[in-house]
Amino acid sequence: MIKIAVNPKKSYFKCPKCKIQGKHIRYIFQGIHNSEEFSCNKCKTTYIWDLPIGHSHDFDFKFNLKTKEAWSNHPAAISWFTIPYQKALENPQADTIKVTYISNRKVKNPLIINCIDYLYGHGLLKLFNIQRHLKVHKKYDIVLIIPKSLLWLVPNEIAEIILVDIKLSQARNYYPSLDSEINKYISKFKTVALSKAYAHPEIDDISVFTKQQSCEKVREERITFIWRNDRPWFNNIYIVYAFKKLNIISILNYLQYLKVILLFSILFRKNKKYIYTVAGFGKTFSFPKWIEDVRTNTFSDKTERYLCKVYAQSKLVIGVHGSNMLLPSAHAQMTLDLMPDDRLGNFAQDIVYETKRSSDLRYRAFISRYAYLNTSISTIAKTIFSMLNHSHEAKKMFTVTEGK
Ligand SMILES: [Zn+2]
Repeated sequence: MIKIAVNPKKSYFKCPKCKIQGKHIRYIFQGIHNSEEFSCNKCKTTYIWDLPIGHSHDFDFKFNLKTKEAWSNHPAAISWFTIPYQKALENPQADTIKVTYISNRKVKNPLIINCIDYLYGHGLLKLFNIQRHLKVHKKYDIVLIIPKSLLWLVPNEIAEIILVDIKLSQARNYYPSLDSEINKYISKFKTVALSKAYAHPEIDDISVFTKQQSCEKVREERITFIWRNDRPWFNNIYIVYAFKKLNIISILNYLQYLKVILLFSILFRKNKKYIYTVAGFGKTFSFPKWIEDVRTNTFSDKTERYLCKVYAQSKLVIGVHGSNMLLPSAHAQMTLDLMPDDRLGNFAQDIVYETKRSSDLRYRAFISRYAYLNTSISTIAKTIFSMLNHSHEAKKMFTVTEGK
């Protein structure tokens, strides 16, 4: 976490040109970004520097809003983060974003976690920082800034929730009404702590959030494919892009549908004891009756909780890389993640591994597998057979209790 004074005399940052400490002007709580605007007394220039929170912890950047000159430790930060943020600040939105406060106890020493993001998975991962703060920052009162879609995941121990009625598609915009609301909130204190909201925090136990224990013991376990309409099981990114543009992505989804049936048919021949299940988003095409279809077209607290139960009852979940794999991998016993070529750099970012299960890296590797998206169905089936057949012995082999 980082502690900031609400009204500091000096900026936290130095002028990128003169290398002298800047003069604080204001904090900007744009939505995703938590920034400081500051000026340099020497070159008389005003800069905006994003505080090291969320992805800005890894993709640090600052810029001059007038000249568009930007500095960053990472080339991707300019196109991905800086330019959209500059544009947002230049085009403030007049609409008022509704903010509701849910107070569980009086906040004296706030530690604020901002979970707003334009990508669902990013917001969810920021929320997972709660578990670390509850363990190591006990003297603080945790305050969450969250969109409504994450409310069902909030643990009981949170002191206060600032519930923001903002859609994912709006989260990159600059709403002065939201900025002034958050600034008004922090003005009640002299200092506030801001969570670094790491983009990929470790978590010990998913049930802290979903109230659903992972690896639920059931008589009939499932093998579950995580369906997603917008990222089908098809490896040519150019064709996926073109088909989306032409609004004919359903053709690739039909291919995905056939692949799921073929894979499950191969698995079913040797393993009839499992409930073969399709879960996830987008209820297109009808599966044969021996495949249980629990996909949904709309998410509510009820469907989210039910799906977490399905994941927890799964011996294995399989799906194409993406935020759709976060909650399934957190709850299921094992995961097989299919990696598209254009996502190889995002390896493992969509997988949640509960640290309570094992500290042995070999066991973690056994239960969290990856395959290239163009891997043949036959090889994927063989990989799944090996995981199903050897998971019990792997757990025994890779668990050493003596001396611990
Ligand atoms: Zn300067």
